[in-house]
Amino acid sequence: MKTVRHVWILLLAAHLAAVLVAVARGGWAGFCTMAVLHLAWVRITLWPGSTPFGKAVESFPLTTREVILTIDDGPCGDTGAVLDLLDRYQARAVFFLIGSRASARPGDVAGIIARGHQIQNHTLTHPSATFWAAGPARLRREIAGGSEILTKLTGQTPQWFRAPAGFRNPFTAPILRECGLRCMGWAARGFDTRRTDPAKVLLRMRPEFRPGVVLLVHQGHPQSLAVIEAVLVALKEDGFGTCLP
Ligand SMILES: [Zn+2]
Repeated sequence: MKTVRHVWILLLAAHLAAVLVAVARGGWAGFCTMAVLHLAWVRITLWPGSTPFGKAVESFPLTTREVILTIDDGPCGDTGAVLDLLDRYQARAVFFLIGSRASARPGDVAGIIARGHQIQNHTLTHPSATFWAAGPARLRREIAGGSEILTKLTGQTPQWFRAPAGFRNPFTAPILRECGLRCMGWAARGFDTRRTDPAKVLLRMRPEFRPGVVLLVHQGHPQSLAVIEAVLVALKEDGFGTCLP
């Protein structure tokens, strides 16, 4: 099993090997070796679906026409309205909550649980710009800290973790294991934090509707309610329900 210490050893060994190649071959060959290794590193880290740094579950083996709807970044001021929407369409969702926001809005957290939805861990403070480069101590603070707050507020220990923007690095998987968490990615998203037109969000997401897939939307943006409603309407039209993992 890969631990944080094993990751450090692997990283140092890989870097040493690259430096040796660069020194031994010199010139362009050495430069290209280093460039390829670093580009591969960046590609793996910043690509949410990549598996070398641990698997992120993107779908579940369901035979029923149901999807897993996940709503990220709450709780925010629109939580009550999101819950009303879900009730109206008889949908259930997984809320990936940010720990610091959850502790500021305990009423929202209680409402999510009371209305039959699930709460999972989306870090303590959601440092989306720097999470991919965080070292083990900071990752542990973000991941374990998020779980701790949510467990206190809900009485239930989170089982799933979602990385901000899906970015992970080699330390993420061993720390998730330490915290008893699995990583959940997504099979379909419509970039709904940037796109304000629900139709354009759906254009990307709808072709991916299949039994068991994980769908990603966000709350807290001016367009969030319209996007979530558009997804719920499209799911209904295509004969899909929602379920929890
Ligand atoms: Zn997020």
